[in-house]
Amino acid sequence: MDKIWNEDAAIRKSFAGEIYQIGVAEAKKAVLNALPKHYCDLHINGYIHIHDLEAYGKVYNCSTPVTLNYFAHKDFSKLSDYGKITSIFNGYKSIIMNLAMCQSGGIGFANFDTEISTLFVENGVSFTANNESFFYECVKDFVEWINSTRTRYCREPYYLSFNIGLDISKWGRSATNGLLSVFKDSPLSWVRPNIIFKVNHNINFNNDAPNHDLFILALECTAKRMIPTYLLTDSSSNMLCYPEKIGIMGCRTRVYQNCNGEETTIGRGNLAYTSINLPRIALENSNIEDYYNKLYSIMVDVSAILEARAKALLNCGSDYFDFIKENKLWANGGDINELLTQGTLSIGFIGLSETVEIITGKKFYKDEQAYDMALAIVNFMRDFVDNLRNRKKLNFSLLATPGEMISGRFCELDKIKFSHKVNKKNFYTNSFHIDVDAGIPLLEKIDKEAPFHKLCNGGCITYIEFRSAPLTNTLALLDAIQYAEEKGISYLGFNYPLDICNICGINGTFDVCPKCGSDDIKRIRRISGYLEDLNYFTQGKNAEAKIRKANA
Ligand SMILES: [Zn+2]
Repeated sequence: MDKIWNEDAAIRKSFAGEIYQIGVAEAKKAVLNALPKHYCDLHINGYIHIHDLEAYGKVYNCSTPVTLNYFAHKDFSKLSDYGKITSIFNGYKSIIMNLAMCQSGGIGFANFDTEISTLFVENGVSFTANNESFFYECVKDFVEWINSTRTRYCREPYYLSFNIGLDISKWGRSATNGLLSVFKDSPLSWVRPNIIFKVNHNINFNNDAPNHDLFILALECTAKRMIPTYLLTDSSSNMLCYPEKIGIMGCRTRVYQNCNGEETTIGRGNLAYTSINLPRIALENSNIEDYYNKLYSIMVDVSAILEARAKALLNCGSDYFDFIKENKLWANGGDINELLTQGTLSIGFIGLSETVEIITGKKFYKDEQAYDMALAIVNFMRDFVDNLRNRKKLNFSLLATPGEMISGRFCELDKIKFSHKVNKKNFYTNSFHIDVDAGIPLLEKIDKEAPFHKLCNGGCITYIEFRSAPLTNTLALLDAIQYAEEKGISYLGFNYPLDICNICGINGTFDVCPKCGSDDIKRIRRISGYLEDLNYFTQGKNAEAKIRKANA
């Protein structure tokens, strides 16, 4: 039973959660038994991982709701301004709790600042000093609720992503300011929600841009708390997207392109994702031609699994989606039959670095030919995905999978059959990332990872690892953001070890508290896009965290 509590660092034990977990295990078994044997074997033997198996044919993965539709028929007219503000936050809580029951993954808010501004203006909340200060109190209460509530499936907090930074109206700026200020000064044990600051030259990056002050505040918050992360709307990866229509949901999921309707993140989601164990293919096929043949055949299988899953979802009936339908949270007005055509189906991958090392004997970030091979493999996958999308008229996308659980699972399974130095470290490297112990300089990491961002249209992130919190060096963050944007990075995050003494409360980067000498230390680290307590990391991610080296 203990094993089921160790699948995800956010999970904590509870009675109801245990009953749910038992159900999950049974549901997974039933799904695997019902799948064609060939697909089932691919999953069990670790060639692929079909994520959220228990949700197969029942619910989709993640979404960015049309929040304003939820509020469209709410009547706030008899309430005071304080009453309206309180009710709107209660509305957000209701969306989060109810929508989380309709899906297996995270919830994104594409423009929290604009949503707040629109709701407050439409409902006549005056922009006064008293109202603004009450609003900040409500933001604080909301963030505390997000951090203290572990009612998602009775065992974990909600996976939430708030995108902000573009709205220049008074209330919009207040929303961005409030969320960042509250989070920056909140207790260090508060690690949620994910906040994504949308960087845009004209709106917040340039010195004379109207929200430049908020961008600086975001950098100060990141330097202290690792949050927010940065969606670079002017980078070549995103320049064809309307900045206000794109947002991150979950930890990195990017839904934008649409072969069946409007290109936008809002009111759409990712239906399902399945990840490929790239190193396994290399361990079995070190000849590059054989490698590509096997990769192709696995991608054919994965796409068939995803398509069948989307159809199963369509045929499941709509009982689970009443909340979405009633509140028109999907862009199509709540027509669940259109889930299939509007949502994305993501083919993910893990361990590109190990793969190239198995085939060439070289690290892809140290050798030009090896690097070209890495890029060619991801280009091959993207071409496959694009062809598939055109042929099937379904929104297939390529995802740089975070792989919280599979980083360890794939590696362990591979070790049984193949002894190779790449699996000695007990985890595989996240998607196309450079090895966490490479310790290469910040600019070089950006140079080498940037070309993959344009290819991974289903979502990806590049992390810059600092030795410790860059508290007084927000300029380093700003420079990195500027450089990353020039190089075509879509989404950027900054990590560093954040240690908190459980006895006296001081923080920094240490094994023994420099103030009171205690070794009772809470270690906050980023894992698969979310901050968590290192004590609860999965085996694979724990192995990874131990050897992380700084890039700056
Ligand atoms: Zn201490």
